[in-house]
Amino acid sequence: RQEQFRALRSVEPVTKDGQRVSLLMNAGLLVDLPQLAESGAEGIGLFRTELQFMIASTMPKAEEQEAFYRNVMKQAGGRVVTFRTLDIGGDKVVPYFRAHEEENPALGWRAIRLSLDRPGLLRTQLRAMLKAAADTELKMMVPMVTEVSEIRAVRELLQKEVQHLSRFGHGLPRKLQFGAMLEVPALLWQLDELMAEVDFVSIGSNDLFQFSMAVDRGNARVSDRFDSLGRPFLRILRDIVRAGQRNKTPVTLCGELAGKTISAMALLGIGLRSVSMSPASIGPVKAMLLGLDLQALSTVVEEALDDKHPTTSMRDILMHFAESH
Ligand code: PEP
Ligand code: MG
Repeated sequence: RQEQFRALRSVEPVTKDGQRVSLLMNAGLLVDLPQLAESGAEGIGLFRTELQFMIASTMPKAEEQEAFYRNVMKQAGGRVVTFRTLDIGGDKVVPYFRAHEEENPALGWRAIRLSLDRPGLLRTQLRAMLKAAADTELKMMVPMVTEVSEIRAVRELLQKEVQHLSRFGHGLPRKLQFGAMLEVPALLWQLDELMAEVDFVSIGSNDLFQFSMAVDRGNARVSDRFDSLGRPFLRILRDIVRAGQRNKTPVTLCGELAGKTISAMALLGIGLRSVSMSPASIGPVKAMLLGLDLQALSTVVEEALDDKHPTTSMRDILMHFAESH
């Protein structure tokens, strides 16, 4: 099967009925980069910048960050790289960055919260990204946004860095795309405001699922208790996709959900056309979608999601569709 998937590397990801899908991969270190060519991914949909910080024994200096981002883009060879600003805290521990012990780290001082409270840290990172992407395209996104005001605050800092660099004659990115990760349920009731502020939205389904269902993603006792393909979560995802269509804001999903073929199928069924996953999943997901009648699937999924008195689980319906097609 590995050989079969390898043979698909240069095949365009288009469904049987002609729908083009973006298959992107998740990465975080330079060793991941060769996987772009290996897997045939179109680009990197999630680059976890905190990994550089997590494997270092001291805080990476501004120049080190800049060199690292430049190297990542160089090795990506013109394919898109979506850098995520630092997602420290929660399950991502940075040893030299001692946060206080927290009773609920997942709900604690992390990601954009920490970045906004330590603007020097965030500005250093933003500047490193801007400089590394001089005269090329820069795509970046912010994790764990809870309120639209937070994304505005980051954008302001970004604007300041852009002005600062141009005042000192530095080259700037030719194009800058700025996005938010959708991981916190409160954002579901701010979708239109959020989408007015950003160029794209990326659903972090690992955290969005954890917070929507109130199950710790790292606790095996409960993490599989609720089905990520159950109606509640798929309806949430569908609402986001619809908001994206309404606002003409590109929506992608970069959690583990995208990497399982049956789940990827469900995501296409609710209207997503861009997904980012671990590189090993690109081949299997592509093989699935090449044979997929997406129109037929969408009809089945839409009806099943709107069913007020369901007798069959979404997962069973999806499995049945996969087997009978
Ligand atoms: C997510 O939460 O789905 C996500 C992609 O981010 P991470 O897994 O790094 O928290
Ligand atoms: Mg996350």
